[in-house]
Amino acid sequence: MINAKTKLYALIGKPVEHSLSPAIHNPLFKKYNINSVYLAFEVDDLEIAIEGVRGLKISGLNITLPYKEKILPFLDELSEEAEAIGSVNTVINRKGKLIGYNTDGIGALRALERFTNVKDKRVLILGAGGAGKAIAYTLSKLAEVVVLNRTERKAKALERFGVKGEKLNKENLSRYLTWAEIVINATSVGMNEDKSVVPEEFLRKGLVVFDIVYSPLETKLLREAKQRECLTIDGLWMLVYQGAESFRLWTGIKANIEFMRKKALEALEGGSI
Ligand code: NAP
Repeated sequence: MINAKTKLYALIGKPVEHSLSPAIHNPLFKKYNINSVYLAFEVDDLEIAIEGVRGLKISGLNITLPYKEKILPFLDELSEEAEAIGSVNTVINRKGKLIGYNTDGIGALRALERFTNVKDKRVLILGAGGAGKAIAYTLSKLAEVVVLNRTERKAKALERFGVKGEKLNKENLSRYLTWAEIVINATSVGMNEDKSVVPEEFLRKGLVVFDIVYSPLETKLLREAKQRECLTIDGLWMLVYQGAESFRLWTGIKANIEFMRKKALEALEGGSI
């Protein structure tokens, strides 16, 4: 029941109307008897929005495009990974102090670990945008990582994490897909379109193929990877694991992943995207 003690958590971004997060976090609050609600706010002026968060004592935030990097100067403290990555997707309001975290990397790692062992594996990440960067940082601590990105400079910039960064082109794709044991699509290619960044003929049996795009749930990359007998992992797993990590940071509760995935699937099928 919503009453005078109800706490507010919010998503800040633009656009936000297709986000699955409210459909995941509100059922979680209910399941664990937490008197809180989660709302999505489309924000035009980030500075004013953050003043509002402080003024209204909003308990926690998720941050999505285009504010994951822009929010940094407005926060009081950053976790180690948020500082290293330079991007925040989760904020805790601890007695008026806004602390930024990034749960994308750990979300991707947990999704992978559900299906395969990651330690010391050879991992190819395609994409060095916000998500690619976070995944590269987290995986660089336990695996051998190469990042390919359309804009080469952004891949090279990730070499500060001890990974190798090169241009995303057919030649490098062919070379590194022969080398890799795990490939992760962290580009937006395939999002609401039937396109893949990986030519089908480069996919071989036994390769682990993880696409962080979750709409459609089965992207062209995953469809072709299945046909070629790869082990496939869809982006909804990352979405729920990164959300579970945000939920843990806010509440201290380790949320039930199957329950979260069920709620996310219902929202996805119900047309939230
Ligand atoms: P972003 O910061 O905008 O980065 C987009 C990335 O895609 C960049 O690496 C960009 O390369 C690349 N790209 C875009 N169009 C391309 C093309 N035609 N060919 C090759 N590369 C292309 O976005 P993001 O936040 O990293 O998100 C990327 C995707 O992951 C989105 O679809 C998003 O929905 C999804 N995502 C999923 C989760 C999850 O939990 N499952 C979490 C976060 C994001 P350039 O640098 O060259 O532009």
